[in-house]
Amino acid sequence: MTRSVDAHGYDLDDLRERVLDEHGGTVDDSIPQLRDADPDLCGVALALADGTVRASAQGDVPFSVQSAVKPFLFALALLDTGGDALDLIGIEPTGEAFDAIKLETGTGRPPNPMVNAGALLTAALVDGGDVASRDARILRGLSAFAGQELEVDEGVARSEHLLGDRNHALAHLMRAEGTLSISADDAVAVYARACAVLVDARALAVMGATLACGGVNPVTGERVVPVDVARDVVSVMATCGVYDGSGRWMRSVGVPAKSSVSGAIVLSVPGVLGVAVVSPPLDEQGTSVRGRLACEALSADLDLHVFGSR
Ligand code: GLU
Repeated sequence: MTRSVDAHGYDLDDLRERVLDEHGGTVDDSIPQLRDADPDLCGVALALADGTVRASAQGDVPFSVQSAVKPFLFALALLDTGGDALDLIGIEPTGEAFDAIKLETGTGRPPNPMVNAGALLTAALVDGGDVASRDARILRGLSAFAGQELEVDEGVARSEHLLGDRNHALAHLMRAEGTLSISADDAVAVYARACAVLVDARALAVMGATLACGGVNPVTGERVVPVDVARDVVSVMATCGVYDGSGRWMRSVGVPAKSSVSGAIVLSVPGVLGVAVVSPPLDEQGTSVRGRLACEALSADLDLHVFGSR
């Protein structure tokens, strides 16, 4: 499916300026590096199906990807397990916070790959015999999605590993339920490193566009994942990507997306484009306040709502 959306001339700096005066929300304080983020940072980027990448001011400011990595971890887990990851993780929305200590009743599976329990498991399911090899596999996969060599912010990875008590609790719970086969500490270490990968809005938009283009990176032309993997991932972004705000997001923005505590949001509009927005102050569901406003405006301006044009 290819819809004709003319984003080539769209003024991203104007979009950015329209949301800059919004000062609601609070910056995440779970680790020192996120607490110290600049609350005024605001960057937007688009990556189109023809390989064009465009960004506003601050579109090249680096930040840790945090939970915006989850769709890509899910994609890599589906690829490396030949689809078996779908038997090991649910795909239903939870209506609960991203780090709720809760697994599916009866099965002990994580409820979906967009909450922390699910992402701890997808990170553990990628190919590799230990933390270092899984980490290398994930970095290689994420770099293919982005079309550039990405790296881990070691300080962020250390803080996430040290201070992620709820993630340690979830990993231990999955061990107890028999759903996690590697050690709880290794699962948290791999997941923490994935969250600590540095991107900018441009790179994240290309990652979203690769999913939107059926798994082919529109900039490099590389097939990163099969088309059915990309479709499965984008479907779950649509239903679960904005945690307990997913229903409202789908109604008001109408585009599959994944939010994160660094204030990044990645969007995939199948056949059309990928978008990334970053601005650290978050609402109660952990969604960037300016990011949401920018996405609502962008969706309306470019007529992106997947359930109908205005
Ligand atoms: N690294 C964060 C955590 O696991 C990610 C959460 C998020 O971005 O929503 O707590």
